[in-house]
Amino acid sequence: MSWKIKYKCSQCGYTTDIYQGKGFMGQEIISISCQDCKSIQPLIKGGAIGQVAPSYNSLIDRLCLQCGSKNIKTWDGKTCPKCNSCMHPTGEKEFWT
Ligand SMILES: [Zn+2]
Ligand SMILES: [Zn+2]
Repeated sequence: MSWKIKYKCSQCGYTTDIYQGKGFMGQEIISISCQDCKSIQPLIKGGAIGQVAPSYNSLIDRLCLQCGSKNIKTWDGKTCPKCNSCMHPTGEKEFWT
């Protein structure tokens, strides 16, 4: 089961959905922070896809879904990509499959 949680930056108001849990093929959706378009993007990692395409198991050669940049890193769970302030969960949670 997976779900998403809305995070919001108290400083600049940027909001993003953070996916948690595992998908139906065992894949995880991790959140990456893109240095170029300064946003947080979801990225599928591991699971059945990772077995046929090993690059899906790591961040190597992965691209930002929004701008195609390679300049991405795993989001640390708090830093706003826009203003480097602290982001907090808003309490909104939505289940999806
Ligand atoms: Zn911010
Ligand atoms: Zn980007």
